[in-house]
Amino acid sequence: MSEKRDYYEVLGVGRDADASELKRAYRKLALELHPDRNSSDKEAEERFKEASEAYQVLSDPEKRGLYDRFGHEGPRGSGFGSGFANVGDIFSAFGDIFGDLFGGLGGFGGGRAQARGADLETRVDLTLAEVSSGVSKEVKLRRRITCKDCGGSGAAVGSGRERCQQCGGHGQVMHRQGFLMIQTVCPICRGEGTIVRKPCEPCQGSGLVTSEEGLRVNIPAGVEDGATLRLSGRGEAAPGGGQTGHLYVSLHVAADPRFDRDGADLHTVVSLSFPQAALGATVKAPSLDGEVELNVAPGTQPGETIVLRGKGLPRLQGRGTGDLIAHLRLVVPKTFSIEQEAALRAYAGAGGDQVEPPNERSGFWRKKRK
Ligand SMILES: [Zn+2]
Ligand SMILES: [Zn+2]
Repeated sequence: MSEKRDYYEVLGVGRDADASELKRAYRKLALELHPDRNSSDKEAEERFKEASEAYQVLSDPEKRGLYDRFGHEGPRGSGFGSGFANVGDIFSAFGDIFGDLFGGLGGFGGGRAQARGADLETRVDLTLAEVSSGVSKEVKLRRRITCKDCGGSGAAVGSGRERCQQCGGHGQVMHRQGFLMIQTVCPICRGEGTIVRKPCEPCQGSGLVTSEEGLRVNIPAGVEDGATLRLSGRGEAAPGGGQTGHLYVSLHVAADPRFDRDGADLHTVVSLSFPQAALGATVKAPSLDGEVELNVAPGTQPGETIVLRGKGLPRLQGRGTGDLIAHLRLVVPKTFSIEQEAALRAYAGAGGDQVEPPNERSGFWRKKRK
């Protein structure tokens, strides 16, 4: 085995280089030697491992101190593993650096991904009138938020998080299984790389506390039943300062028996008697702003419609309003007075319509049918 090179020399920095200088130097080398760009170059891979090992030691103040005093044996002698078995191992150790370095290129497995807070779901019930106007609704939320006492670290005030000895702060541990090296989440720190010796009391070391709060949700006019609003950052906080989850608000619009909704259009049914349809009439129809009058033309047929422009719901994407469409239906009476029956028979007789004679059936006609 060849002599190990000096770590500072490997990275090309002075012995007094600070953290950002080290990072810069390592990033530069990593970019140059990255295996995605040197797929079959064995030498580049070895240099990549060498640079990664150097950076692993020098970027850690404790290991760097040991290295400065005792050389290569320093970090190793005190129980810190150093060196990398394979390239995947490097990515898992420095995932965050590669994340912003190669983020745009993508394609890295492993890496210590910051856990994101859980998403939450809640439900809001709306009436059609609220859909029409848009509304602000208060929802009750029970969610975990960052503990104020410890700022989310989970460590009691005055203490702090300490590097996990099990995994050396990587959050991942390697096991040998036959010929394979298997990488798993560190069981001691659960992947966080640090542990709490003295837990913060209010959050019991989790860094999160449960909070109950009311949240105003602005619901735009025109939303559909079953739609979902996403409020980013209104879900649960993440342990260790990761991104907060989202709140999904599912919208339920109560059915209104007067209307059938089709997007922004509303359909309603208006009943007419035969004389109204035949002779024309002004009748009332429901709308979201109260009753409106419909002018029914003489000779209107069952199933004809009258469209009231702009009397529907606002369109969600901003422009315009739907229509209210009145479907006219003809109602045949099941009961009527003697006078009405007499008039009807006279009408039929005048038009020559053949109808059932009165003697047998008139009693039947007067009875209210179910
Ligand atoms: Zn706390
Ligand atoms: Zn650990």
